[in-house]
Amino acid sequence: MKRAIYPGSFDPITFGHLDIIKRASKLCDELIIGVLNNKQKNPLFSIDERVSMISELTENLDNVKVECFEGLLVDFAKKKDAQVIIRGLRAVTDFENEIQLAQSNKVQYPELETLFMTTSLKYSYLSSTVAKEFASYGGDISLFVPPQVIPLIEAKFNNKEK
Ligand code: ADP
Repeated sequence: MKRAIYPGSFDPITFGHLDIIKRASKLCDELIIGVLNNKQKNPLFSIDERVSMISELTENLDNVKVECFEGLLVDFAKKKDAQVIIRGLRAVTDFENEIQLAQSNKVQYPELETLFMTTSLKYSYLSSTVAKEFASYGGDISLFVPPQVIPLIEAKFNNKEK
């Protein structure tokens, strides 16, 4: 049984993340989307909001589970008995951070492999930050995030303006 973890902040989930989730779910028996509760970052969405959005959007994928975690990814992977970490690569700018992260995790937990999946061309520019930036100026984000997520982001920025 190959259990993989796809970790990230997912603040919020974008079409780029969903694309990786769909493709990765075909490569393993079980895929756990690990939503990072990072106290150092100041996320737009709470951990519960992020988990609930992703759960709704992946409910049709039978081998995908959504869980939140805090602390080290290697500890979460050990706890879940996962053998593989999935990460997405968009451009060379992702590479430097990602290789450092993968190698530190490998030193800590040698049985754990990190698999990089290249972004689909049409989402290679896309990040949660881009989606939030456009939404903050009232821009069209329909090409960035699924329709269910749009009103949730808009509500955040409308509240901020008040
Ligand atoms: P983190 O804060 O850990 O970088 P993100 O939510 O930004 O979390 O991203 C989670 C993972 O998804 C990372 O591996 C990131 O490279 C990948 N990812 C984000 N956007 C895309 C995209 N458009 N295409 C492919 N992979 C992506």
